[in-house]
Order: sequence, then C-alpha cells, then structure tokens
Amino acid sequence: MKQINSLESDVRSYCRSYPVMLDRAKGPFVYDEYGNKYFDFLCGAGSLNYGHNNPILKKYVIEYLENNGIVHSLDLATKSKEEFLKSFHRNILAPRNLNYKVQFTGPTGTNAVEAALKLARKVTKRNNIFSFTNGFHGVTLGSVAATGNSHHRGGAATPLNGVTFMPYDGYMGKKINTIDYIRRVLEDNSSGIDLPAAMILETVQGEGGINIASTKWLESLQELCHEFGILLIVDDIQVGCGRTGSFFSFEGIEIEPDMVVLSKSLSGFGLPFSLLLMKPELDKWKPGEHNGTFRGNNLAFVTAKASIDHYWTTQELEASIASKSKILRNRIETITRENISNDVEIRGKGMVYGIDCILPEISAAIQDKCFENGLILERCGHVDQVVKFLPSLTISEDELNHGMDILEQSIKEVMTQSDFHKKIEQEIIQN
Ligand SMILES: *Cc1c(COP(=O)(O)O)cnc(C)c1O
Repeated sequence: MKQINSLESDVRSYCRSYPVMLDRAKGPFVYDEYGNKYFDFLCGAGSLNYGHNNPILKKYVIEYLENNGIVHSLDLATKSKEEFLKSFHRNILAPRNLNYKVQFTGPTGTNAVEAALKLARKVTKRNNIFSFTNGFHGVTLGSVAATGNSHHRGGAATPLNGVTFMPYDGYMGKKINTIDYIRRVLEDNSSGIDLPAAMILETVQGEGGINIASTKWLESLQELCHEFGILLIVDDIQVGCGRTGSFFSFEGIEIEPDMVVLSKSLSGFGLPFSLLLMKPELDKWKPGEHNGTFRGNNLAFVTAKASIDHYWTTQELEASIASKSKILRNRIETITRENISNDVEIRGKGMVYGIDCILPEISAAIQDKCFENGLILERCGHVDQVVKFLPSLTISEDELNHGMDILEQSIKEVMTQSDFHKKIEQEIIQN
C-alpha cells in the first residue's frame, strides 16, 4: 500500500476511499491480502454485472488460452470476433428489432463516446453537441467537454468547447418540464445556441447522482430530435448490459437512438471492451478513420459472447433482476425511513439505486462505516451526496439481503453517533 501511494500518480482515486490491498475476488465478494471479505456493491462502477471471476465465463477464458486462441489481432478478422458479432446480432439486436452496425473502438468507454461525437459531427456537418447537466461521458477531451462535473472538466486544462448543456429531466425541480426550455432554444433563432449535431445522454445518470429521466421526457426529447434533425446518442456504458433490468436501459421506452455506446459490463468478465452501435445509414467512416491498436480484444469477444449466450438467451436473468430489484428497493426504503429521514430521496431502477443524503458528510460517513463493516460502496452526485448501490446482477437474494444488513447496521451506527438528524432537518427547512 505504501509503495502504491508513493509510486503511483496522485491521480489515483478509488483506492483512497478503501485503504486495503485487494487480492482475490469471487462473485459479489472481494478479499484483501489478509483474507478479509468485503461485499462489492461498487462492481467496477458497473463493469462486473455478472460478478467477479464468473465461473461460467472464466471457463471460456481458460479454454481459449489453452488452445492458443489469438489474443491480439488489431482489427483483423478473427473467429472470436465473428462469433461475438453473430451472437450479439442474433440474441441482442434482432429480438429487440434494433438495426445497428457495430463499431469496435478503443477499449475505454470514453473512446467509444469520442467515436460517437466525431461521427455525429462528421455526418451532420454541425459542430455543437447538446449534453445534459450532471451527465458523465468520460475524461478524454471530447467526452469531458460533454461531462458536467467541474472537477473532471478542470483536469483538461484547456478550453472545452463544442458542447451546450441542457437541463436534464428534473433539474429545475419536479414541477418544471425542462423539455420546454430545450424546445424554445431550438425554435428561437436568436437563442444564441447553435443547432446541435446530436444530443448525448444517459437514461439514468450513474455518476451524476442516479438521476432518472422519465419515459415521457425521453420520448419528448426523441420527438424534438426528429423534428429538428438531431441525432440521439444514448450512453449506456454504466447502466446498459442489464443494470436497469433489461439489456439496454431504453427498452420499453419509445425512443430509437441513432447511436448507442456500450462498455463497462459488455465483456462480462471485467475485461476492457467498448463498442459503438450506429444506424447503418450513419456509417460514413472511411477505413481506419477512428483507428486504435486495441480495438477488438479477442478475450473480451469470447467472454462477451459467452455472457450473452448464457444470460441473454432466456428470461431467467431479467426475472431475477426484477425480483432482486424489489428487495433492494424495499430494504433501502425501510432502512432510510427508519434511520435517516422520510424526506431523503431514494432513486433507482433495476439494480442501480442511490440514497440522496443531501449532505456529502453524511454519505461519506455511511461509505466509511459500511467499509469498516465489510461493504464496499461508492458515492455519486454533484457533491458526492448520494450513496450508490451497484451489486452484481448475479448476486443471490440471500447475499443481497446480507449486504443490506451491513448497510442497515452501518447507517444505524452513523446516525446515532452524530448530529446528522439535526443537520438534515435544518437543510430541509432551508430548502
Ligand atoms: C464509465 C463511463 C464512461 C467512461 O468510460 P471509461 O471506460 O472510464 O472511459 C462514460 N460514460 C458513462 C456513463 C460511464 O459510466
């Protein structure tokens, strides 16, 4: 640990919240160097939807390597690539009536976002992009320009431009429909805001505080995009691959994104792997224009295909997410109502939830106490005031309940050993 702190750049972040040396991991658990066990409800910020070292997927990794399967191949044709594409098409796109071409980008989510923004600008010959308050899309220059958080924006140390921020659903409070503002901006040729090439958004803002755009708001936004010839890009990097209860977060909502970005849990095994889905008519790339050495990680093709074949060819996973979602919501509601306050908001769907503690000192105290008691959780929101839950989708109901028991115990300890009740009350009266 001391070595890491002195040798690794100050840019390191997650390891500061959890001062342990991790060693092994299995399913919903991680273990430190002394064998202490922690529930992992951070899950690589949503990169481990099927748990750590998922045994079904691991088998394929070992088998592939044992057979000297090709690991690195630039974007040369490989059997594993074709098999992934076939499975993705047959089991994910076709049953959902989605017609997309697949672009393999560099392995990070932000690189796939860059590809989407570049392509939108290239196809429409417009520069401006609409992004949304509290949106997070990555930290390379194009993506961070579309990211709201000033801490991340500050890291760029160069002017960020080409993006206009629009208010996300609920940004002005429950009574104001922010679509009205966006429509006005687009209709008024003196609004001072250029017609954008695209709008990019998350249907559930993962880093921004588990803010959920309503079905109606999303459908109105889609209408605006159609009316004004604007492309719609859904960033499903964090809440795609089953997190909200269905493979894509926008299923059941009447929108048809022109592009979709996937990464985090796409490989299923925690391996780096990202892609951009685009409507076929948008595929105006020339060969190699959005190049990259690590496009198409063959091991990730293998595990991504295996995770689709295993988890997305039956209704089983979706049904189990629905039932665990109820447990998660009920437990969080009860624990929050009984121990924090009736006025604290709980937001989420599927297996992504957040408790908005209003004050960051409260969310921080809960995070620290949970860690002490063996539960790893991350915080999010504009001042990190939200305690965030991302348990693996494959966790058992017993394990989930056990994790929630640790949460309950920790929140009880935090709330009885502090003056947080008074502080929350004051905060609520002021607002
Ligand atoms: C994590 C994330 C990204 C960036 O992905 P990286 O792999 O960290 O570059 C972009 N958008 C969303 C919604 C994310 O959660």
